[in-house]
Amino acid sequence: MITNGHSDFSVQNYKPYTLRNFREIPQMEKLSEEEKFAIEVVGSVLPFKANNYVIDELIDWDNAPDDPIFILTFPVKELLKDEHFNTMADLIRSGASKNEIKAKANEIRLQLNPNPAGQMDHNVPQYHKEKLEGIQHKYRETALFFPSQGQTCHAYCSFCFRWPQFVGMKDYRFATREIEKLIGYLRENPQVTDVLITGGDPMVMKAEILEQYINPLLEADLPNLQNIRIGSKSLSYWPYKYVTDRDANKTLNLFRKVVDSGIHLAFMAHFNHPVEQETAIVKKAIQNIQQTGAVIRTQSPLLYKINDHPDIWAKMWQQQVQMGIIPYYMFVVRNTGAQHFYGIPLERAWHIFREAYQQTSGLGRTVRGPSMSAHPGKVQILGVEEIHGEKVFVLRLIQGRNPDWVDRPFFAEYNPDAIWLDDLKPAFGRSKFFFEKDLKKSQSNKVRSV
Ligand SMILES: *Cc1c(COP(=O)(O)O)cnc(C)c1O
Ligand code: SF4
Repeated sequence: MITNGHSDFSVQNYKPYTLRNFREIPQMEKLSEEEKFAIEVVGSVLPFKANNYVIDELIDWDNAPDDPIFILTFPVKELLKDEHFNTMADLIRSGASKNEIKAKANEIRLQLNPNPAGQMDHNVPQYHKEKLEGIQHKYRETALFFPSQGQTCHAYCSFCFRWPQFVGMKDYRFATREIEKLIGYLRENPQVTDVLITGGDPMVMKAEILEQYINPLLEADLPNLQNIRIGSKSLSYWPYKYVTDRDANKTLNLFRKVVDSGIHLAFMAHFNHPVEQETAIVKKAIQNIQQTGAVIRTQSPLLYKINDHPDIWAKMWQQQVQMGIIPYYMFVVRNTGAQHFYGIPLERAWHIFREAYQQTSGLGRTVRGPSMSAHPGKVQILGVEEIHGEKVFVLRLIQGRNPDWVDRPFFAEYNPDAIWLDDLKPAFGRSKFFFEKDLKKSQSNKVRSV
């Protein structure tokens, strides 16, 4: 048994705040009525949820609404384009009914590219002629699994690229209770070595539920299964999960069980800002997870106003290495939801990455980025260079829909405003990127937009 020694930390009751009750948050008195109304307007379109830990321990309210963690969780006006904001604001002011607001919200949502990177159409595998709705399989080695009870989070990030599943756009949800189908799929696909359990946040599940997914996976004794990854923001949004929550010990023991069975447990933690990894409780949670033998790796998108400075990333990576955590990915924010607000020009993203990377010892240089999770794969911006008088972006695929595409340098015309792969054209007068030839004809006109 694991003992947490959690006597230093008192038990905390999780209290969520949503559109319905955010005005009850005592710290709200620091905001103007206009700012509160903006939360209501934007929160009617994009998901909004905060909780008592984020509010009391992470946000610096003297700095709100410019505080990075405030922006991370509370919707600010600029998240919506002016026209969308004004339409919704007028509707709410006119006293429109819930249904009218919902209908308009859905109309706006459809204009925010709710399904980037072809997630719905291209990555859902088949098993015995049936579409496996709770599974995505894009890269040869790794299958994503979306347990149905893990499709929410302890709080919502305002940049979230999975936002449609939190606002009730049912068609955009992936979920299955059917771990048996996943096991069947893994048996028939021995090339899959990794299962990535994701959400939402699978760590919102109580240990008893998580066990119902993990135990069968272990008992199946799949020869190909080497690594179980859990993608989670819980260390940032609810670290009590691993220290004082009622199921903390049970959760940690489940982690240990995975490790003891000979499978590597990779805890893929989302940290967007150093503040999230500096509280006493998160440090304890990190230690507790590490004591199970699980290894924590980290990833985050690069976000305007939250972490768009190299020193922030350098600090984050340095602290992580010191805590025995492995920096893993820096992402470019996806082309969905509030990309127009959060997006950062690719050239600037590369500068930020490079200047942060230079500030870490080799131990932190396990991180890769900036990386765009686009339709062909994970595209890394290696830099901007001038080749025979033509200024170009140098790129490569870290992951590819086709494994043979990985790690070949390729070039795009320089475009100072580009914020996503869609904005790039092949350099040197070529009509296509090398990987576009292989993609099916039916997709070829869409390839750079998804
Ligand atoms: C990022 C990602 C993975 C995991 O890729 P790694 O480079 O192995 O971490 C798997 N599937 C999808 C769809 C992804 O976007
Ligand atoms: S934790 Fe992940 S899935 Fe949850 S809101 Fe944030 S980005 Fe979205």
